[in-house]
Amino acid sequence: MTEQVISPNINFVNDIIASGGDTVKKCFQCATCSVVCNATPDKRPFPRKEMLYAQWGLKDRLLSSPDIWLCHNCNDCTKYCPRGARPGDVLSAIRQKFVEENSIPGIMGKIVTQPKMTLLSLAIPFILFLILLGLTDHLRIHEGEIVYSKFFPIRYIETVFISTVGLAGIAYLLSLSRFWKGMSKGDVQAYSKGFVPAFMKTLLEFVKHSRFLKCGPNAERRVVHILVFYGFAGLFITTTWVTIYYYFFEKHTPILLSDPLKWVANISAASLLIGAVLLIVNRLKDKGFESKSSSFDWTFAIIILLLCITGILTALIRLVGIAYLAYPMYFIHLLLVFYTIVYFPYSKLAHIGYRMTAITYSKMINRDIEI
Ligand code: SF4
Ligand code: SF4
Repeated sequence: MTEQVISPNINFVNDIIASGGDTVKKCFQCATCSVVCNATPDKRPFPRKEMLYAQWGLKDRLLSSPDIWLCHNCNDCTKYCPRGARPGDVLSAIRQKFVEENSIPGIMGKIVTQPKMTLLSLAIPFILFLILLGLTDHLRIHEGEIVYSKFFPIRYIETVFISTVGLAGIAYLLSLSRFWKGMSKGDVQAYSKGFVPAFMKTLLEFVKHSRFLKCGPNAERRVVHILVFYGFAGLFITTTWVTIYYYFFEKHTPILLSDPLKWVANISAASLLIGAVLLIVNRLKDKGFESKSSSFDWTFAIIILLLCITGILTALIRLVGIAYLAYPMYFIHLLLVFYTIVYFPYSKLAHIGYRMTAITYSKMINRDIEI
């Protein structure tokens, strides 16, 4: 029998505690949490073992574990834990550390996941936009009808957003690939055929958000996730639609309110706004067992809410024709758009890709639950 030496990593334990997992040391390994969790597979169930890894600071095991992403933060485990160790919160804190540690480049993970750095994250696009618009004489209140492309021309938006989103997308794919390699280390089966059907099943599950139905007393989180998810999806579709109008039909902004594109945009914005409000209301409610919100969670919820509010105000102020308010509001809105989409791989939204990767992997190695 080979001897295995385990060295505790106190720094990582302290990082988990600082990220919201401050109850981790209360766990006495009774395994009640693994028994009550509806989301865990029977083979090597979670979250008891993750609580042990977290107490020892076993960073490598935690960062290569699909289980921290199979957890959907339902908190049934927290409700029944006899020690008040709040395993749901500890797993949430581990996921935050994961995003920070697994991100490429690492510096972006550190900047965006740390709420105290939020102002710095916003300062980056703020300075970039100021320089770009200032040097090209667009940074002013334009005369005549309010047309946002007078202020921030389409070609500038394309240059800034396509280049930064492209880089962020490549960095995200590299981060997901690093996670995949970490999970499947030494497991040949994980690299063999079967990826495509497993991924397609995962995708279907995401479309329906069906895994949230496993979330016992906290199942209403599914509604919030659906509203936010489809809100973003709708806004993505309308952005693509505007581009098609612009290049293929020579139809420029502002688009008429009667245009179907506007209906989709407005319904999507309403869905995102309602989702963001419910997200905040749910976080403020205290059922005792619900997840404690970390400042990482709050930053995300507030940014999404501000994104919706500034988007709606940008449209309304243009309609009533107050130029000196419209252009600055549009500027703020674009900062928040930049924050949301360019920092996607480093923010709370990064969980979409990591969760899909973990579920696909679990399906491939036949260690998934029936949904
Ligand atoms: S987290 Fe709570 S329920 Fe789970 S093993 Fe530890 S003490 Fe038991
Ligand atoms: S939070 Fe929910 S999904 Fe995660 S371990 Fe606890 S019971 Fe399971």
